[in-house]
Amino acid sequence: MLYGKKNRREASYLEPIFGSKNEDETLPSYHLGEKSIEPRIAYQMIKDDLLDEGNSRLNLATFCQTFMEPEAVKLMSETLDKNMIDKSEYPRTAEMENRCVNIIADLWHARGPEKYIGTSTIGSSEACMLGGMAMKFAWRKRAEASGMNTQAKKPNLIISSGYQVCWEKFCVYWDIELREIPMTEDHLSLDVEKAMEAVDDYTIGIVGILGITYTGQYDDIKKLDQLVEAHNQQTEHKVYIHVDAASGGLYAPFVEPELEWDFQLKNVISINTSGHKYGLVYPGVGWIVWRDEKYLPEELVFKVSYLGGEMPTMAINFSHSASQMIGQYYNFVRFGFDGYQSIHQRTHDAAVYLAKEIEQSRHFELINDGSQLPLVCYKLAADSERKWTLYDLSDRLLMKGWQVPSYPLPKNLDHQIIQRIVVRSDFGMNMAHDFIEDLKAAIKELENSHLVFHKETEIKNYGFTH
Ligand SMILES: *Cc1c(COP(=O)(O)O)cnc(C)c1O
Repeated sequence: MLYGKKNRREASYLEPIFGSKNEDETLPSYHLGEKSIEPRIAYQMIKDDLLDEGNSRLNLATFCQTFMEPEAVKLMSETLDKNMIDKSEYPRTAEMENRCVNIIADLWHARGPEKYIGTSTIGSSEACMLGGMAMKFAWRKRAEASGMNTQAKKPNLIISSGYQVCWEKFCVYWDIELREIPMTEDHLSLDVEKAMEAVDDYTIGIVGILGITYTGQYDDIKKLDQLVEAHNQQTEHKVYIHVDAASGGLYAPFVEPELEWDFQLKNVISINTSGHKYGLVYPGVGWIVWRDEKYLPEELVFKVSYLGGEMPTMAINFSHSASQMIGQYYNFVRFGFDGYQSIHQRTHDAAVYLAKEIEQSRHFELINDGSQLPLVCYKLAADSERKWTLYDLSDRLLMKGWQVPSYPLPKNLDHQIIQRIVVRSDFGMNMAHDFIEDLKAAIKELENSHLVFHKETEIKNYGFTH
């Protein structure tokens, strides 16, 4: 009866996936398949195609979130249809974005009488682009007002060589000279004195990083602010600080609340962060806040209609789903200050534990011990007998599913190869114990192996900039 003519179509939905004809077809790569296939089969085929990508939670290379609670995931999938830009159709969503900006501005000590302004973005890259553009436009206005010829030279931006690639993009797109302050052995973050020496009348701003993607170290923004203040006291060509707090912006306020790096410092005018790093949301959501609306030139603010009125928008992207932003608001509502603090504290403890164990193995020299960002970073300790490299160790760990990148430090220090582990909220103490076991076993294996092929010049490329 089931296969009666009438029920044929319905019956095809009951076919097992393996053994169905569609399973024999290759997935389209260059042009659309001719006929539609059933949703269940399409789902399974695509799911299978993604199978060998590894387990994201074992990926210790990324700052990006790899876990959210089922309720958050439910809420986010139920709100995928909401368009972030459509403030008049989704006024409650727009209000949620405002609340998130308020909450973040408060964590960063934005205080009256200044009127902060901010927006959600797709991530820190978009937020940095906005921060950079605002600095460029504001610089040009100040420079023109003082009678300078703004065309005579390329404007410049000052940042340590540990910058994330989005700043290089910003400088290329906007024709700005990237003035890199090299990191040195004693300065694995911004050398603030050297940064000040690089300032001239064409400097649109200085970027401080909280923290450097390579090593996790924080730039000394407080010291930088003091030097900038001294500079600004003596000249009409003022210079200001943007803090790229992609990873630290929603971490430091909970773990090191006494650290002064944000709007408590007079010359910090804008800050960005990635909601999908320690804001604990799946990618992509980011944030930027200016301490006062006067630092965001009006040319960069556009109006969209909102409840019969108008609402300012400054994000670069237009239409995209609001679900990540809603996920951010969920986390704020759900965890509160205490929740974020205890989650991050656990993450911190796991990082410190890893650092201790790694140091005790005597094979490594620590560069970052997890005491600032929960990131452990190390190089091989000198040993003329050792035949294996960090790249070999990365490969060995991958056999157990762990993705741990090895890479050279930036320019000037690129003879140094380091390995970096980013600890996230879903990497608990139990996983940390397991990881250390696997690390010890990997080292033992390497120590006892007869390594045949060893081409020293070969540098493998592991992702590490996120
Ligand atoms: C991750 C990161 C970025 C880029 O952020 P996305 O959210 O991935 O766009 C920029 N700067 C720093 C310091 C980062 O760590």
